Amino acid sequence: MSLATELSDKGFLVEIIEKKHYLGGRASNTIDNKMQDPVPIGPHVFVSAYNFLKAFLKKVKADEEISWQRRIFLELYYKGSYQVLKTYRLPGALYMLPWLLFYRFVGMFDKLSNIRLMLFIQFSSKEDLEIYDSQNVLDFLKSYGVTENFINKFWRLFVLSLLNLPLELCSAGEFCLLLKEWTNLKTPHFGFTKVGLGDLYTIKSQEYLENRGAKFHFDSEICKIDFSKSEIEGIQIKTKRKKKKIFGDIYVSTLNPMDLRNLLPEEILFSNFFRGLNVFEPVPYISVNLWFDKKITNKKFWALVNDEETSKYMNTDFYDQSNIYKSRKNQSYITSNIIYSKAYEKMTDKEIVKKTLEELKESFPKMKANIIHYHIHRIPYVIYAPFPGVRQYKPERQTPYKNFYLTGDWTVKEIPQCMEAAVRSGYECAELIEKNHPIK
Ligand SMILES: Cc1cc2nc3c(=O)[nH]c(=O)nc-3n(C[C@H](O)[C@H](O)[C@H](O)COP(=O)(O)OP(=O)(O)OC[C@H]3O[C@@H](n4cnc5c(N)ncnc54)[C@H](O)[C@@H]3O)c2cc1C
Repeated sequence: MSLATELSDKGFLVEIIEKKHYLGGRASNTIDNKMQDPVPIGPHVFVSAYNFLKAFLKKVKADEEISWQRRIFLELYYKGSYQVLKTYRLPGALYMLPWLLFYRFVGMFDKLSNIRLMLFIQFSSKEDLEIYDSQNVLDFLKSYGVTENFINKFWRLFVLSLLNLPLELCSAGEFCLLLKEWTNLKTPHFGFTKVGLGDLYTIKSQEYLENRGAKFHFDSEICKIDFSKSEIEGIQIKTKRKKKKIFGDIYVSTLNPMDLRNLLPEEILFSNFFRGLNVFEPVPYISVNLWFDKKITNKKFWALVNDEETSKYMNTDFYDQSNIYKSRKNQSYITSNIIYSKAYEKMTDKEIVKKTLEELKESFPKMKANIIHYHIHRIPYVIYAPFPGVRQYKPERQTPYKNFYLTGDWTVKEIPQCMEAAVRSGYECAELIEKNHPIK
């Protein structure tokens, strides 16, 4: 949507081809028939660093329905007590200092073991950090002297929730670049949408685009891209009723790397430029939606702190949408994410609900509420897995085919895959297209 609106603003006539009957992709929602609540594909948080996203939402007049949690960074629960980690306005990498100093679940030695890491982030450039992509976060943190206790009780949760992999499997380059990116923030804090995630911006974006002559093809799956020697010649589309071919002057893929590689003819997929696509593997999630007959909490967002190498918790982050959505107030609607859910894939929906309820009861032992409805979403691709060594395979936006460009969250090199990366990729791609194909 960000790409399409930018291109429309620059005078290009845009056509959007979407395989689903609604817009928004991974940042979308459906409506639950029984409870009438917007149900996100999985709960999402916005970060105060999302400047491209904020600019995009403002442009399509959809920026009013985000509630920013300005004072609270994160609420953590450990062995019977909650801790609120607050946000403070501190320069550079000092934003980490309050997390270290006020974190109650570790000792002073554990806290101080992060000082070298903080100084390293402060005084390294992004280029310096890039080389750590060959290492995993666990080895990296240990090499900087961070204690195992601090790693287990803090960084494991941080890495899993923001980079979506256990830290043994996650690139230290991605981790360092994320910490560095946040040094540009006045205060890192999270926000939530008060309406459905997709409802926030999809209808307004569609209106914005239609007013500028854009055309939408829904329920239209691209099934093949036809290439000539130097450019895309056309794309083949499958709808419910027929197959057809569509032609344009310029083509932009917004697909994730795995969907994209399925569309490329073999000789192109194994060409020098595209062969890197074969490296990408998905991070799967299971997201849980539980509706209760009573209110459980006034909290918006919390996480359970684990103190072992292998987490005893299945869910990573919990949200009570009744404290977030403006349409729901008196009965809790809890959403949660089971991140990198490979280990739980064989569980039935009922087993997932039971275990999630146990985890909820651990943080709210006095809760009296009963489940009245549930939905389990199994999401095979949330982002590509940022394993060590994968960053180098991110392709350039411009392919060797002169009318073919790539965009989407995974194509941005500076920040991790997220909604901001998706929007930023759209802005950057539109600029490149304008430069290469000026409208006369
Ligand atoms: C459960 C979950 C939780 C997340 N949590 C957060 C979070 O807290 N914060 C955050 O910032 N980000 C989060 N993300 C990531 C964020 O949603 C994505 O980074 C972002 O939405 C990606 O946008 P995109 O435009 O790059 O790709 P997509 O949204 O995947 O867009 C690709 C589009 O292409 C369509 N498509 C695919 N194949 C075809 C085809 N063959 N023909 C036609 N159309 C096709 C798809 O239907 C889709 O609409 C989360 C994602 C998930 C799934």
